[in-house]
Parts: sequence; structure tokens; C-alpha cells
Amino acid sequence: MNFDLTPEQDQLRDAVRALGRRYGHSYFVEKAKSGEHTTELWSEAGRLGYLGVNIPTEYGGGGGGITELALVCEELAAAGCPLLLLVVSPAIAATVINKHGTDEQRKRHLPGLADGTQKIVFAITEPEAGSNFHRLGTVARRDGDDWLLSGRKCYISGVDEAQYVLVVARTEDEASGKLKPALFIVPTDAPGLTRSKLDMEILSPENQFLLYLDDVRLPADALVGESLDAGLPALFAGLNPERITVAAMGAGTGRYAIERASEYTATRKVWGGRSIGSHQGVAHPLAHAAVQVELARLMIHKAATLYDAGRDLEAGISGNMAKYAAGEAAALAVDTAVQALGGAGMTTEYGVATLLGAVRAGRIAPVSREMILNFVAQHVLGQDKSY
Ligand SMILES: Cc1cc2nc3c(=O)[nH]c(=O)nc-3n(C[C@H](O)[C@H](O)[C@H](O)COP(=O)(O)OP(=O)(O)OC[C@H]3O[C@@H](n4cnc5c(N)ncnc54)[C@H](O)[C@@H]3O)c2cc1C
Repeated sequence: MNFDLTPEQDQLRDAVRALGRRYGHSYFVEKAKSGEHTTELWSEAGRLGYLGVNIPTEYGGGGGGITELALVCEELAAAGCPLLLLVVSPAIAATVINKHGTDEQRKRHLPGLADGTQKIVFAITEPEAGSNFHRLGTVARRDGDDWLLSGRKCYISGVDEAQYVLVVARTEDEASGKLKPALFIVPTDAPGLTRSKLDMEILSPENQFLLYLDDVRLPADALVGESLDAGLPALFAGLNPERITVAAMGAGTGRYAIERASEYTATRKVWGGRSIGSHQGVAHPLAHAAVQVELARLMIHKAATLYDAGRDLEAGISGNMAKYAAGEAAALAVDTAVQALGGAGMTTEYGVATLLGAVRAGRIAPVSREMILNFVAQHVLGQDKSY
């Protein structure tokens, strides 16, 4: 068992931490409040190679794995910049295309994903299907060599700042009712693809959208992989990286909140000479949250290590557990930090209540805590599926 990072991973962590701190949470909040994106941070992270750490070197990436990408996600979040698009573009899209795309698709997309000049977001959720992906209603039909896509997607993050969206559809002639997914790389400006922004109670520079696909015509090579058989493995390929990196983002956010609160409670004095942090009623909840965040980090490390070792099934269990643990820990840490800061906790200036919406959403997306508990009950505890 090894809990140490390699020297290269250590260097990466330090370098990303320094970059994140140079921008900081106030930058993230200003961008969110002005309706802008974190373009400068994204571009700089791309130029420095941090967005492509998990992409093979032959496509301009760092040749590392999800362990490295999780470090990037965690450190930027720990600096107050939890970038959700790290989870969709380099974690999901780059993994899917690298593992299951054609040579041509790899050449077309991976270099841009690696240096951050290309963003590919991910669209699976639908209004009617919700958590039940077996009910996906977005349909792909053949029209000569082309494909025609029709359907609706919801809560899709970052469509306004991406060049492409990786759309999960199903093939029309699927009579058995079983999910036979197919993934398509769809330009966000494709005729027939329209979007409307959802008003979300999350302070974030990254937005969610409803997507309408109305006979979107795509060339044959928009289908990920050589044939329709690539669909299911391609879809599953994105799940573990998604779970692990979103967990890392949650753990980083938890660390950020606890650090802000600890700095404050160590120096704030309202009862004579003692800091409020000397009162166990203030310190213990923070210490408890710190334990939960650290436990989540341990599981993230395990899941990423298993994933990078090619042990996908075990990584699936650990990745889901890590996502659950980190989602809960992040929400606890931010809420506890707000409480410890008192009135200051609710101000924009102290930068913790600004994360309440994001960490609350982290218990719902990209997979809800209940669906993870279902997964664990079924696959770890051997319980019958109830739904
Ligand atoms: C901020 C944000 C960003 C997102 N970004 C993306 C994105 O980029 N791309 C994308 O495709 N999607 C995205 N989503 C969608 C997200 O993945 C879904 O919201 C999530 O999977 C839950 O689906 P739902 O909202 O339809 O909830 P529903 O499926 O309607 O579920 C509602 C509630 O019921 C519970 N529930 C449902 N079924 C069961 C069951 N069998 N057992 C126990 N409980 C159950 C759920 O856990 C949930 O609490 C995003 C969502 C948010 C909030």
C-alpha cells in the first residue's frame, strides 16, 4: 500500500495549487456574478499542460492518468476554483474518445482537449428519463451515410463555451427496450441544435442548458468508434473518470472551506482574549468535517489508483464510494464553515456561502447519492434491484 505521490505528481500538485491561488475564489465569484467564464484560468491551465495530464503524449497530453487529473481538479477547487468542465471535457470526453474513438477522432479532438483550446461537454440527462438512463429518448436514425439526431437533454453544463457536445442517444431500431446507446460528437453550432439557459441557484461561471435536437444532421464519422458496438463500452468508459474527478473537486472544495473557516476562527475573538476556535462547539464541527474530507480523499486516491491500473470493476465501486463520500463531505464542510464564520459566513467577501449551491448540487449530480447507494446495495451488498 502506498500513500505517497510520485515526485512528478507532487510537482504537479504544487504547480496547480500555485496557479489556482493566483486566480483564487474572488476571481471565480466575479466571473460568475458578471456572467462570464473562467477563460483566463482555463487557457493558462491548458497552456501549462494541466488540462491534458491524462491524455497520451502523442496527442500533446501529459501521458498520465486519472490520478493526475484528479489532482488538478482537487487543487483548483482547494484554491476556490471548482471547475466543473474539468469533469466533462478532459475527464469524460477525452477518456471516451481516447479509449473508443477512431484514429481520426483522436487526432481531431485530443490535441485541442489537451491544450484547452477545445472543449467537449457531455449530454446524457433527459427530462423524462432522469436517473433511469434505460429510458433515454434521444434517437439516432440513419439517413444514407448520415445520422439524424432528435431528442431533448437537460442540465447540460457548459454548452455555451464548448465547440462540441458528446451526445448519448440510442439507435431507433432497438426493439428489445434494452439500452443500446450510441455516442455522437455534435458541433454546438450544428443546424437543428438549439439551447436555452436554465436559471440555477448555483453561483458558478459554468451554466446549465436545455438542449433540443431537431433532426440534427451529422456525418457518419460523428459516431464515436468504428461501429454501433462501441456505444455501450464508450458510455461506461466515461463513468469512472467522471465519478473520481467530481469527487476530487468536492474534496478540494471541502478543504478550501475548512481552511477559510479555520483561519477565521483561530483569530476571531469575541470573549476576551480567547479565539472562537478555542471553543469546542466551534472547533469540533470543523474537525469533524476535516475528517470526512480526508476520508473521502483516501477513497479518491484508491479509486484513481485502481482505475489507472486498469482494474475497472474495483475502480467502479471505489469511484462511486468516493463520489458519495466527497459529495457529503463537501456539503458538510461548506455548511460548517458558514456556521463557524457567523454573519461573515454569509458575506460574499469571506467566500464560503458562495459555494453552498455548488456543494448542494454535488449530492445530486452527476449521479445522485441515492443512485450510488442503490449501486452499493446491489453490487457490494448483493441486494436485489428494487427499481
Ligand atoms: C449543476 C448540475 C450540472 C449538471 N450537468 C450535467 C451535464 O453536464 N450533463 C448531463 O448529462 N447531466 C448533467 N446534470 C444532470 C444530473 O446528472 C442529474 O440531475 C442527475 O443525474 C439526477 O437526475 P434527475 O435530475 O433527472 O433526477 P431524478 O431522476 O428525477 O431523481 C429525483 C430524485 O429521486 C431520486 N431517485 C430517482 N430514482 C431513484 C431510485 N431508483 N432509488 C432512490 N432514489 C431515486 C434521485 O436520487 C433524486 O434525488 C447536471 C445536474 C446539475 C444539478
